[in-house]
Amino acid sequence: MNVVMLGPPGAGKGTQAVRLAEIYGIPHISTGDIFRENVREGTELGRRAREYMERGELVPDELVIEIVADRLKREDCRNGFILDGFPRTVAQADALKAMLAGEVRALDHVVNVEVPAEVLVKRISGRRTCRECGTNYNVHFEQEEVGEACRECGGQIYQREDDLEETVRRRLREYEAKTAPLIEYYRDEGLLRRVDGDAPPEEVLASIRRVLEGGGESG
Ligand code: AMP
Repeated sequence: MNVVMLGPPGAGKGTQAVRLAEIYGIPHISTGDIFRENVREGTELGRRAREYMERGELVPDELVIEIVADRLKREDCRNGFILDGFPRTVAQADALKAMLAGEVRALDHVVNVEVPAEVLVKRISGRRTCRECGTNYNVHFEQEEVGEACRECGGQIYQREDDLEETVRRRLREYEAKTAPLIEYYRDEGLLRRVDGDAPPEEVLASIRRVLEGGGESG
């Protein structure tokens, strides 16, 4: 099953993508995670991506497209993949279509996780992330206080540079200008599946599974 998770930053698509990858036994490919790993390791790619990421802007298409093309060629993607955070522009969507067509593959579903704008700002600016394992917490929503150590692995909890409120607003503007047009793009292709993301994670997961496994809302 070849799936794209679409939706604004903070829609919860990353969390859902991780769960779906486990459930269906296919890899979760997050371009944001790939960039953050490269920044952390100080690679050439990380060095080039960093300035854009810290400003809350999109990294240039050609950098992202090459990474995804390489990743999709790997053996573990043979039975499918969950793309999270890619494509984010029409040029990236065209490139994805072309790379899949070259291997006689195509997308099966594009899941658009819908969440109102004011909820997004609260979700992202309250987000804290583990440096080690990537687990996310939220200071606005967690029952327990979010401490300095990750409850999963003991790693250090921090706030991503691009989760600071001003940067969040810029990321949302980037989303509206460059990524939101993909909703029409995939609707025209008959691939768009709409899911209400303003609900507890377990409910959102159940809605996504319904649409992926057939019989759910689409369009
Ligand atoms: P994310 O974790 O998906 O929110 O991505 C974090 C940051 O990485 C974004 O704000 C962008 O700067 C960059 N990034 C991730 N994926 C893409 C993409 N497909 N196109 C351009 N930039 C991206």
